[in-house]
Amino acid sequence: MTFTRDKKMHAVYISLGNISKGVHHKHNAHAWLLLVKVPISKFSQTTFPGSKTAQESIPGILGQQLFHKCMKRVLEPLRVDQRRYYIVPSPDGLSRCCMAILMAWIANLKEQLLIAGVQSFSCPVCLATYEQLEEHECLGVCRGEMILIALKEVHCNFPSASVYEFQQEVKKLGLGLSSSFEEPCWEGLGIEPYVFIKQDILHGIHKFIWDRLSEWLKKMLGVQEMDSRFIVQPPISTNRFTRGISKLSQITGQEHHAFQKAILPIIAGHDRVDNKVTNAMLSLLDLAYLVQYPSLSESDMHKMEEALSTFHGNKAVFVDNGSQEPSHFRIPKLHGLHHFVDDVVSGGTPGNFSTKTLESLHIDMCKDPYCALNRHEYDEQILNYLDMHDHLAMCQAYESYRQRKKSHVSAF
Ligand SMILES: [Zn+2]
Repeated sequence: MTFTRDKKMHAVYISLGNISKGVHHKHNAHAWLLLVKVPISKFSQTTFPGSKTAQESIPGILGQQLFHKCMKRVLEPLRVDQRRYYIVPSPDGLSRCCMAILMAWIANLKEQLLIAGVQSFSCPVCLATYEQLEEHECLGVCRGEMILIALKEVHCNFPSASVYEFQQEVKKLGLGLSSSFEEPCWEGLGIEPYVFIKQDILHGIHKFIWDRLSEWLKKMLGVQEMDSRFIVQPPISTNRFTRGISKLSQITGQEHHAFQKAILPIIAGHDRVDNKVTNAMLSLLDLAYLVQYPSLSESDMHKMEEALSTFHGNKAVFVDNGSQEPSHFRIPKLHGLHHFVDDVVSGGTPGNFSTKTLESLHIDMCKDPYCALNRHEYDEQILNYLDMHDHLAMCQAYESYRQRKKSHVSAF
């Protein structure tokens, strides 16, 4: 997230898997804590040695190394050799013996690639390369052990290699690794990246549908026709696109839902829209609704797979009508749709893994405190601000508990 132009960081939040979904989704329910702020440096003041390519690559490599070194330290208590049992008081009055493990890491695609340590325009789950992204079947999984062996082998063969030379040597292996760090932060956690990296509904489905379908609609219907069709739609919910959508670059969560509800009425009856276009768009919308189900049965998962097959069976129509460039369905987010079904098996419904709530936490836990302070040594000030607000919230909760108890006693 960005505070101002030159002040950026990765904000990492933590929560517990046994808190119910309804509570997780309320950003004011205190179900999430700001765990760490990982700095992002551009090394703008540093001149690096080597060729021009090396000089351009090194800031990016060091940025990735910084992220993994910071997160390795943060995740240390979760490592298999560091795990401990804690006696935790339970709401039912009993004490329970608990051990913390990493179950899921929710992030957008760019961050997923950084965590897994694979190249851009590839899949962080199954290591599909850019050329393989058009495959609509899972190509295997990204085995952490395989990555660790490859990195250690290069380190042993080239012990004195610079960060840039190390990256070049790993790239020569052709495994699709970004090769920017020697020790991934998830090493020793006892869980594979393909298990803990979960697909995110907000970026993986809603933003994908917005980006692609709005682009296809623009090219199929024409900008003016598309906008006028959105403008004349009756209000389905509180959100209406009264000025069309062509000038919108980003939309809110509610607008994503309103957009998806309006797509079929928008395309209905247009000369360039045939059954294939309708089926392709409908299947993506079906998938978007299915992944939001509060619970999913095997038959629902089968429907998700069917929706994807229908889309892939009809997608060529967008190339035929000129909406999509030929042979250009190598879209990482389109490929990632297949992994939603895998995530249901390993971690429950995709609704558990959305960054929608986390996006609003950025405002409460980072941007608002930053704006409220004098921005001098802002890291420490933000932590003090959050501590103070946590104490006030606890005090408020205790006071309302006391009031409830008092009124309960006086009622008898
Ligand atoms: Zn994949």
